[in-house]
Amino acid sequence: MSSNYDVIVVGVGAMGASACWQLARRGVRMLGLEQFGVGHALGSSHGHTRMIRLAYYEHPDYVPLLRRAYELWDELETASGERVLYRTGGIYMGSAGGEVVGGCIDAARRHGLAQEVLSRDDLARRHPLFDVPADYIGVWEPAAGFLLCEKAIGLFARLAMEAGAEIHGHEPVVNVELRDDRVTVTTPLQTYHADRIVFCGGAWSGKLLADLGVELVVTRQALGWIWPQSPEAFALDAFPVWGIEQPDGSLAYGFPMMSDVPGLKMARHGRGRPVDPDTVSREPTAADREEVLAIARRYLPSAVGPTLSSRICLYTNSPDGHFIVDRHPAGGRAVIACGFSGHGFKFASVMGEILADLATSGVTPLPVGFLGLARFGKSVS
Ligand SMILES: Cc1cc2nc3c(=O)[nH]c(=O)nc-3n(C[C@H](O)[C@H](O)[C@H](O)COP(=O)(O)OP(=O)(O)OC[C@H]3O[C@@H](n4cnc5c(N)ncnc54)[C@H](O)[C@@H]3O)c2cc1C
Repeated sequence: MSSNYDVIVVGVGAMGASACWQLARRGVRMLGLEQFGVGHALGSSHGHTRMIRLAYYEHPDYVPLLRRAYELWDELETASGERVLYRTGGIYMGSAGGEVVGGCIDAARRHGLAQEVLSRDDLARRHPLFDVPADYIGVWEPAAGFLLCEKAIGLFARLAMEAGAEIHGHEPVVNVELRDDRVTVTTPLQTYHADRIVFCGGAWSGKLLADLGVELVVTRQALGWIWPQSPEAFALDAFPVWGIEQPDGSLAYGFPMMSDVPGLKMARHGRGRPVDPDTVSREPTAADREEVLAIARRYLPSAVGPTLSSRICLYTNSPDGHFIVDRHPAGGRAVIACGFSGHGFKFASVMGEILADLATSGVTPLPVGFLGLARFGKSVS
């Protein structure tokens, strides 16, 4: 086992595993270090599915990244011979002037995306299972769907190793020294040296990058699976991914049922309780289950039924809810990807490419300026 690498990736979760694949397929000598087992359920990337959509209401500059993300998800499927992306179409609902519907329409106009705006009557006719407020309209997006999250991470890691990457699970990075001439990484097992380092620490990024000077707030988020009254109505070929803007600004959202994961998955996208990722209780409570059931009761009455399962997952919130992807202010040897704020998984494929670009050449042709540290008054020296 060598201790000298071109690039070390810290954290082999969604972003790190993708970066490992993109680096290894370029022939870069690389090491990925993961503190838990690869594919664990203690961070931000477990729970079977993650939504992917193209008309991004959060910020239209994400759309070019998403176009490339879709291409790279397809590439992952081709390279692995496995399916990870299901294009079910997606229905988003909210008031006409609200952030969700208004932002989706704006993103679609700016970027020429396929989309249908549905009146209240269209909504009731085409998506009769939903019970939404009288002033809500809908946006139907054919490109939307979901990704199998644990499977994608496993495939990224497998393909990376087949392309020559070394990946070590159960080996936490306990110290990093960024020097002008090289990077030194210490774990309880060994000391490693590399030309470059990529930080993909997810909920632990605030601890790994304590000197960054940007506050990252980790929150505890619940997911639930309910057994609906009429399961066939929510089957994969009958029901899309969906999102409903709630009066408090959060988003209720959910997925169709998978044949091998019993229950209809839904959750609330909105800031949960701030926690420490090392001490948070990942045991779901009655209140966690109630948060999910309340969504079904309010918007999908025919889905109300017994809870089959619930999981706790972590968001890492940046101050403005947008990702942080840049070179580290301490110098060009380190690249950071963090603050995915509960909406990053769909970008994991393209993040791998961006991080590989930044780690190998210091620049990327992809438009990531809006995700840089300059917006927090930090500049890369
Ligand atoms: C409930 C929930 C629902 C979500 N829904 C969606 C959705 O529908 N669509 C979407 O696009 N996104 C969604 N997201 C967000 C998305 O899942 C995350 O943004 C994404 O998974 C974050 O990936 P990551 O690589 O930053 O973190 P992770 O995948 O958690 O990876 C970080 C890794 O770094 C490792 N690590 C940390 N510190 C060290 C260290 N010192 N040494 C070694 N390893 C270390 C951790 O163990 C971990 O494996 C959701 C998130 C949650 C929690």
